[in-house]
Amino acid sequence: MNYSRSSRLSSRFSLNIRRLAAVVFALFIFDVQAKYNVVRFTLKNGLQVICIEKKSAPIIFFSIWYYCGSKNDAISKSGVAHYLEHMAFSSNKMEFSELLEDIGALKNAFTSINTICFHEVVSKKNIEIVFIYEAIRMISLNIGNDIFQSEKGAILEERSMCVDNNPGGAMQESTLANIFNRDTGGIGVIGWKHEIETIIPKDLQEFHDKWFAPNNALIVISGDFELDHIKKLAEKYFEKIPSKRTEKPKEAGVFPETAVCLKEIEYGSPKNRSLAAVEYVYRVPFSSRENLRKSIALDVAIMALNQPAFFVKKILKDVINCATHAAFGYIDRVFAQDIVAFEISASSIDAAHDSENMWRYLRKRLLHIGISQSELDAVKRQYLVSLAYKKDDIVKMSNHFGLLLTGGYSLEEIQEIDDMVQSITTKECNDLLRDVFTQEPHAISRIVPKGYDRE
Ligand SMILES: [Zn+2]
Repeated sequence: MNYSRSSRLSSRFSLNIRRLAAVVFALFIFDVQAKYNVVRFTLKNGLQVICIEKKSAPIIFFSIWYYCGSKNDAISKSGVAHYLEHMAFSSNKMEFSELLEDIGALKNAFTSINTICFHEVVSKKNIEIVFIYEAIRMISLNIGNDIFQSEKGAILEERSMCVDNNPGGAMQESTLANIFNRDTGGIGVIGWKHEIETIIPKDLQEFHDKWFAPNNALIVISGDFELDHIKKLAEKYFEKIPSKRTEKPKEAGVFPETAVCLKEIEYGSPKNRSLAAVEYVYRVPFSSRENLRKSIALDVAIMALNQPAFFVKKILKDVINCATHAAFGYIDRVFAQDIVAFEISASSIDAAHDSENMWRYLRKRLLHIGISQSELDAVKRQYLVSLAYKKDDIVKMSNHFGLLLTGGYSLEEIQEIDDMVQSITTKECNDLLRDVFTQEPHAISRIVPKGYDRE
């Protein structure tokens, strides 16, 4: 009894603290809403350049984003985009690569469904070397046989680590294959093992010839630079590269006509029965390309569902006490249609079944109760704080712009998002959650231990 009285007192106390925090945050909101200083220019050959100025240290983050990714892999050639990223990173003009390392530059690359990105962090005075290095990468590809073979080994190893021996990776690959047609996005970025094995140098060369063009690329630069200097370097090294006629890539991820599909993937060993995971995928019944506001409202709503203090998480944690992890994700503008995924990891198959039953019950409660005003306010404050962190970090800021721009957002839309988040209402969020979760899931994927006896 004592316990319950003191806990009530403490909850009243924490409520007052929350009110106080809300006032402080309301003052803070004004401070973090300042606009970024973003300048955009386009070269005559179509190459777009976005410059974000931040002069806190004499360094520059340079990133080049090609509007092509695993969605451009040809049928039965999955993994080509990712393989090309490896080759272009490892083999291109070694002398410049070594020079960059000598001057202390950091460089890396990644591939996603939408893009292949190469990036460097370099001191302000050495930025010209990066322009030369990336211009060479755009026009040429060196495919030495030794490096081609060693990279194939590295990629198969990466696949084994990130997909075959990683439940999260295995789940993601299976979900993609499960919800989309094989030829319209049902492939992971890394590709199927048997298809990676058949990739030959000609496949990489053809992909490079087709998509590595100035009119199919975007440079995002952030940090301490002089804008005139950047313009001169862009013209000097990139403007002479001719544009190419790039065809519009096929839209990734078109839903097949079939309704709900269920797939179980066997994973791990029969002895290891301590791991199970389930993923529910729901269609989003509107297009984020046509309705930015709805897409932002759904994003905010999904952020709210993931808050540890929100009732969905509370019930998952306190009532069933068996799901080790449960999270919602909204994936917009990656596939032709947006999706919302709900993923549960549990410590055993029985626990996963309990969690699934709980989700069926929770889904109804979610539709009934919805997100409260205070929960929405908390999410908005979190959004603003995370934006302030982003603005303070040249890498995060560039990635924010690069990912959204290659995901199909316009610069104007990206700059609208911040103000839009502030004006989203609970009604908009709850209406959208109702639209998504009143439907049956489009797909359910389950991970079960290998040799699992279904009886
Ligand atoms: Zn890789």
